[in-house]
Amino acid sequence: MITCDFHMHTTYCDGHSSAEEMVLSAVALGLTEIGFSAHSYTPFDESYCINQNRITAYYEEIAALKEKYKDQIRIFFGFEQDYYSDPPPVPVDYLIGSVHYVKCGSDYVPTDGGNEPLRNAARDYFGGDIFAFCEEYYRIEADVVRRTGCDIIGHFDTITKYFEREMLFDLTDERYRRAWKKAIDALLPTGVPFEINTGTISRGYRSNPLPNYELLDYIAANGGSFILSSDSHHADTIAFRFDRYERYARDSGFVLFDSFCALKNRKP
Ligand SMILES: [Zn+2]
Ligand SMILES: [Zn+2]
Repeated sequence: MITCDFHMHTTYCDGHSSAEEMVLSAVALGLTEIGFSAHSYTPFDESYCINQNRITAYYEEIAALKEKYKDQIRIFFGFEQDYYSDPPPVPVDYLIGSVHYVKCGSDYVPTDGGNEPLRNAARDYFGGDIFAFCEEYYRIEADVVRRTGCDIIGHFDTITKYFEREMLFDLTDERYRRAWKKAIDALLPTGVPFEINTGTISRGYRSNPLPNYELLDYIAANGGSFILSSDSHHADTIAFRFDRYERYARDSGFVLFDSFCALKNRKP
């Protein structure tokens, strides 16, 4: 059984629970390893990320919690490192690499803030061609491991987060498929696992995890690996539906990382 979860936000960024509340909840759930992944500082959008002058406090509190709960759970310190952030200013145990924006001109277009910004970016910067926008998004996504040095690829196809509410474009369009396949093909040789992110389910955006099943199957069929992530913003969603998606992954023959040690000793 999977007993680790390395994608968790707290009140240091846009989460709703304290770091210690997250630890206590994880212990109560029987988890053996957790990781804190505050949103890295993005100077062009301070609405959800960690405040620059709280980074030291974040580092010190997690260090203290590691020690305080060391007999109950192993705790790791990291960031969800945005593509456009500077490298972390404090030592980290690990990073999740995520593309939360596509830089268009001087604009940072949010990739997980609803369909509207995507539609507008296609209109304003790509002559109304939504697939040209998608190609740009996946061109950046393809570079996320090199740019961030991450250990986990966060919510790979997050631009589809709101598609159960409104289908912005046809997911089976060959241009769209070519774009994500090209990015996956570029990332596979790194050996860095892709998330199966259940946070979009627990927060009510979707009924299925990210990435979409077609992408999961393509990653698996081409030798890629996975890690379950709850992307929790609250103590009560840690390891959300991990039982279900672990079963799904194992039944599908996916390679699934099940510990921090395995994650760090992965082979490219
Ligand atoms: Zn994210
Ligand atoms: Zn996150």
